[in-house]
Amino acid sequence: MAFEDLLNDPVIQKYLHELVGPTGMPVAAAPPDGEVTDEELAEELGLELNDVRRALFILYENDLATYRRVRDEDSGWLTYLWTFHYDNIPENLEEEMYRLLDALEEREEYERTHEFYLCEVCSIRFEFGEAMDFGFECPECGSPVEAMDNDRLREAMGQRVEKLRNELNVDVTG
Ligand SMILES: [Zn+2]
Repeated sequence: MAFEDLLNDPVIQKYLHELVGPTGMPVAAAPPDGEVTDEELAEELGLELNDVRRALFILYENDLATYRRVRDEDSGWLTYLWTFHYDNIPENLEEEMYRLLDALEEREEYERTHEFYLCEVCSIRFEFGEAMDFGFECPECGSPVEAMDNDRLREAMGQRVEKLRNELNVDVTG
């Protein structure tokens, strides 16, 4: 996928935004083709050098950028030359989706294997054990708590799990 296509994809924009935050977004959204220094990026984008460096380091930690160090022979200063590797984005996104799927499946199992009680006054939910400890009375307001049906929540979670599995081509029986 070309850089432009990647960066026009709202899922990828959201992913980058979550990684680097709003201050780092100008850096993440404008990957140059070749090598670039942090100073060049800061000047080009009109950003603080520290914000540029923070964004670059986050990209580096996520395998989306690498750098090499070059020492200036006259001044002795080290320059960092950065290269963006956005071809790794699809793979990173897939990993994120697997993580999300695991978390959802775990949560779904928790919902399926526990009983819940609700205080309708405070909208607080308790696990069966907690509700029993409190004598089936809300510890906040003293109202009786009622057995709560979480079928709709479970159904919604089940649909999300199924959708993710389809997107990832995970065998549903697996
Ligand atoms: Zn209450």
